[in-house]
Amino acid sequence: MKTFLRLLRLLAPHWKMMLWAVLLGFCTIGSNVGLMATSAYLIAWAALHPPILNLMGATAAVRFFGIARAVFRYLERYFSHHVTFRLLSQLRVWFYQALETLAPARLMDYRSGDLLSRIVADVETLKNFYLRVLSPPLVALMILGPVFALLAHFQTKFAYVVIFFFLLAGVVVPLGIRLLGRRVGRQRVETRARLHAHLVDSIQGMTEIVAFHQAEQRLTKMNSLNRELLQLQGRMSTLAGLTGSLTGFAMNLAMWTVLVLAIPMVESGELKGIYLAMLALAVLSSFEAVAPLPLIFPHLEESMAAAKRLFDITDAEPAVQSPAVSAGRPEKYDLQVTGVSFRYDAESPWALKNLDFCLPQGGRVAVVGPSGAGKSTLVNLLLRFWDYDRGSICLGSRSLKEYSQEDILSLIGVVTQRTHLFNATVRENLLLARPGAGQEEVIQAARRARIHSFIESLPQGYETYIGEGGFKLSGGQRQRLAIARALLKDAPVLILDEATAGLDPVTEKEVMEDIYELMKGRTTLVITHRLTGLEVMDEIVVLDRGQVVERGTQEELLRQHGLFRKMWDLAHQIIS
Ligand code: ADP
Repeated sequence: MKTFLRLLRLLAPHWKMMLWAVLLGFCTIGSNVGLMATSAYLIAWAALHPPILNLMGATAAVRFFGIARAVFRYLERYFSHHVTFRLLSQLRVWFYQALETLAPARLMDYRSGDLLSRIVADVETLKNFYLRVLSPPLVALMILGPVFALLAHFQTKFAYVVIFFFLLAGVVVPLGIRLLGRRVGRQRVETRARLHAHLVDSIQGMTEIVAFHQAEQRLTKMNSLNRELLQLQGRMSTLAGLTGSLTGFAMNLAMWTVLVLAIPMVESGELKGIYLAMLALAVLSSFEAVAPLPLIFPHLEESMAAAKRLFDITDAEPAVQSPAVSAGRPEKYDLQVTGVSFRYDAESPWALKNLDFCLPQGGRVAVVGPSGAGKSTLVNLLLRFWDYDRGSICLGSRSLKEYSQEDILSLIGVVTQRTHLFNATVRENLLLARPGAGQEEVIQAARRARIHSFIESLPQGYETYIGEGGFKLSGGQRQRLAIARALLKDAPVLILDEATAGLDPVTEKEVMEDIYELMKGRTTLVITHRLTGLEVMDEIVVLDRGQVVERGTQEELLRQHGLFRKMWDLAHQIIS
């Protein structure tokens, strides 16, 4: 019930449009009843060869209802689709905004396919909430009044017969269908989500699947999920078919009952014969309003399941609370980390323990350590993707917690190992760092990152599409674009998170030179497990299992014969 009310609240801004669509739905079915009734009356009366002038009124009515039905139908479709599409786009934006505030900390437990299924399929499912759940009963209730009045005008019992069959088709059949189809809607939403998650997972991991001969297994799982979904869809169609037959049956039964009651009245002269066909057709056509009612429950269940999946995400508490007023830009860009401890959840071991270091404005500090030492965790804390549990991190004498995440991300430029490039043009990918930048600035940044001449050599220069994830570029070119992006962003603090990992030694050396260019005049933190280019660092902090085990310049650390020296020797053994 709570989900239902929340969904209604989401629809609230569109209530006027919806009301129009319901009114037009009523007018459409009303015109249809009018058309059927007046045509039957006209034909019956014409059979008695009255003077042609006497038929004029009925002919005009037929023409009016015929045209009105088409016009109302068009307008009803127009309004209901308009409101549905507006609603869907509003829901997508609302859901995406919620996702943004939760990323990345709170989204780690969700598979990307599952999130995709929520924002595409679940949002799409909600169109049925208005079209097939809310609107049909309102239209049916509205049509009941005039039909009742029309029939009662001839005989009250005709009206009661129609009410009885209306209730049978509009209440009893839906309840029966609900009993038969319990959980179908919800299961369909869940199975569809599992199938989407599996599909996206399989596409993303295609190379590994092929390399490890897992294609067969993946296909079998996909087939079984597909079969499950087909079965559920089949059950939904069976219900729809059953509904159609039962409503049709009730409709015909209503007509026959009215006829059985009316024919003796015609014989006894209580009712004029020319009204007989009119009554029968009016009853028959009024059932158009009841036809969609039996599927309300499966659609309601499906909408509730989809809405719940969306609310699950939008209700999640962001991992980081933004301050009411952000500290804005600091006067100095130094970074002070004091006694910081952090773990991902209460049961996990500490990922960082009592971490201390100071990075003065314009200074260069490297944090090195083996895999699992907590280096990426430190980046997550500095970018405020997570909040630390103990200690403090200050940026320019203010706690990081006093800055909104937006401000932090504008103050800190990041170059990581996994630069995400969008399937867009080179220029659009660069502009991501500063959407308002002019062409000259873009070229300048690319020049300084030494990627300009390569971009120029592409078929359409800066307007060349670089493919999904930038797959048309080499690793070095991708990193250079990332550096150009950071240059364009021109943030005073820079974090280089394994920025050269995955590159061959020659490219790495070249990219390092571009990185030195990027570092100029910026407060720089380098995170790496590779020990190249560290001679220019003011201080190197060596982390192991979340704790600082050594610190000093490269020269000092090499003399200490500790973990740094061990990692150094190992790296140089491998190279030589
Ligand atoms: P590094 O970057 O130095 O390889 P990480 O910072 O990724 O190390 O990891 C430090 C510790 O935190 C590891 O024990 C790792 O398992 C854990 N960890 C990293 N990310 C998460 C996460 N999202 N949820 C729970 N634990 C995590």
